[in-house]
Amino acid sequence: MELTITRTQNPAAKPADPSKAGFGTIFTDHIFEMDYTPDKGWHDARIVPIHDLQIHPGAAVFHYGAEVFEGLKAYRTPQGRVQMFRPWDNMQRMRDSAERIQLPDFDPDFMLEALKKLVALDQDWVPSVPGTSLYIRPVEICTDVDLGLHCIGSAKMLILLSPVGSYLAGGLRPVSILIEDHDVRAVRGGTGYAKCGGNYAAANRAAAKAEAKGYDQVLWLDGVNQKYIEEVGGMNVMFKIDGKIVTPALTGSVLPGITRRSCIQLLKDKGYEVEERLFSVEELVAALASGHLEEAWGCGTAAVISPIGKFCYQDKEYAIGDTNGETAQWLYDTLTGIQWGRIEDPYGWVCPVPETV
Ligand SMILES: *Cc1c(COP(=O)(O)O)cnc(C)c1O
Repeated sequence: MELTITRTQNPAAKPADPSKAGFGTIFTDHIFEMDYTPDKGWHDARIVPIHDLQIHPGAAVFHYGAEVFEGLKAYRTPQGRVQMFRPWDNMQRMRDSAERIQLPDFDPDFMLEALKKLVALDQDWVPSVPGTSLYIRPVEICTDVDLGLHCIGSAKMLILLSPVGSYLAGGLRPVSILIEDHDVRAVRGGTGYAKCGGNYAAANRAAAKAEAKGYDQVLWLDGVNQKYIEEVGGMNVMFKIDGKIVTPALTGSVLPGITRRSCIQLLKDKGYEVEERLFSVEELVAALASGHLEEAWGCGTAAVISPIGKFCYQDKEYAIGDTNGETAQWLYDTLTGIQWGRIEDPYGWVCPVPETV
């Protein structure tokens, strides 16, 4: 498929201080866009100046949550080059998410090439201030104008770019979490493993409750027994117990994070034992009470690593520690080192962006 490029005639001013850009409020000059219809398949792939979309108000995306998305980043290296982190994995996961919602599949090679071209075109937007990056948001939506419940026909793919500062204001510092024992995010057989907007809509109420109680994040328990730990907000979660790493297994209701997968690889190569298994909240409380819990952290693209300082479960507060644990700090330094090109990547995770379009 051909990809056409139309450059903007009115480039926007870049943020003066990208470290204060917040998360996903400023967008670059261009977007990628392509459309799908059952008769033509994917067509009209284009990079164009960012613009408002014209979508009929009857489109299914507005009514039935028919959308999936991805989140990855481009980083500026000390040499001034731009690189992405494991974008191929994001494209594959987006195909899995689309399959779950029954949105049309796409060619991941073509999408990756389009992504490289878009980032290359807007590469001046990739900030160089420490801790900053360019957040990349691919999204696929259903554009069928039909309020009946039918199989999905037409769709639109978009890629947006947004310069971002640190996800958590104040950099790496321990966060507080509220263990949610009423609402659930996902259930077995549901959409937990898919990166879809509906999962986030289902999480809003618990997030509001946590915020009102003064906690940074929600920790989700499994949807069947409300017993096993699944995730922390939009991050996967890991625990260090007696020097061993425990992380919830990918049971289908847990999002298969690329940061999670990268952490597991780094930890194993460093000599840690890593257990992917069911881990109950009782086991967490017991490990803490007996002094065996050494560290806990969340991991995901946005915040990279987020040490957990304390948690609240059924109105009781449990303190883990108010400093960054050594393993969390090491993971943060190693992952961000590879992502920003400060340390060599022995895994083939980084993907350079071409210097010219
Ligand atoms: C995106 C996401 C993650 C983290 O995945 P990464 O690929 O590491 O960014 C974890 N949990 C949820 C619910 C997510 O949406």
